[in-house]
Amino acid sequence: MRRSLTGRPGADSFAALASTPIDRSTAWPFEDGEPGAFTYSRYSGPTLVEAERKLGELDGGEALLFASGSAAVTSLLVALLSPGDTVALAEGAYYGTGVVLDELARWGIEKVEFDQAGPPPDGADLVWLEAPSNPFLTMPNFEAAAAHPARVVCDATAATPLHVRPLERGCDIALHSATKYLAGHDDALIGALVCARPEDAARLLEFRSRTGPVPAADTAWLLMRGLHTLELRVARQTATATTLVERLGRHGAVGVVRYPGFGGLLSFDVADADSARRVETSTRLIDNMTSLGGVTSRIEARARWEGERVPPGLLRLSVGLEDADALWADLEQALANE
Ligand code: PLP
Repeated sequence: MRRSLTGRPGADSFAALASTPIDRSTAWPFEDGEPGAFTYSRYSGPTLVEAERKLGELDGGEALLFASGSAAVTSLLVALLSPGDTVALAEGAYYGTGVVLDELARWGIEKVEFDQAGPPPDGADLVWLEAPSNPFLTMPNFEAAAAHPARVVCDATAATPLHVRPLERGCDIALHSATKYLAGHDDALIGALVCARPEDAARLLEFRSRTGPVPAADTAWLLMRGLHTLELRVARQTATATTLVERLGRHGAVGVVRYPGFGGLLSFDVADADSARRVETSTRLIDNMTSLGGVTSRIEARARWEGERVPPGLLRLSVGLEDADALWADLEQALANE
């Protein structure tokens, strides 16, 4: 296994990254009248395959890239399930995953939610974990899930393979919105599935090739660039988030603070929806916007998207690379009148 300068797999030297070409071709010539390694970019391409190799090393499986995290979610469900199947979805998982499942209800796929701290329900045909869940930041019970007879998927978007490697914890497939920490710069929409079993990877590649949710070569290259600094970014975000969590916990206007102990994503509650709106619109250094995992910090009240599923005063904070004291000063002034 190749190792990066910092000893982690998945990120080569700068020279290797800079010399990885972006091949934008949509088709390649046959060789002696036969299709070669690459034929048509809906199936795959050299830049994609190189990015998949790097991510596969990081997660310890066979990686496939998709046009977004949600395209990866949808492809997995449609390719591997049949009408009449039931998905056991971790309560409090990314709301968009539940939304995709609601779309698929018309096609006969059912959703039941369960507390991922315990065992998944009997009879489920697919178990869906999230490590940690977004925005509740709960962690799954991997042992209980692995003991379930169904396939187990774990969305490890917020953890990254640096903190959670689902395949090593008994899961069959790891899922990433690579849009977030893996690409890491808010300029690449991309998703990934990393499979423990070659037959799952083969089926998902077949499905992707037939239905077309592939990312562009440029986007795959941006993912590789992001992987190059992943370890440094996530280490800094973890250190800063730990400092902020500790200070938020002592602030009089803040109720529950949720943090899994690693990574750059946290959430906390203020009194109500009005208070949350005032806080998110009063920060100056921290942007009031959605998404997570980028180099700049951002905050948002999640009730605007998730409604009653979350407390009305829940604020989600994605910590970037800014100075920890500067971020705290910003939060403190935004919280000052609550
Ligand atoms: N999974 C998690 C945990 C997410 O936070 C998101 C997006 O916010 C997704 C999946 C969907 O990914 P994308 O926005 O790349 O489609």
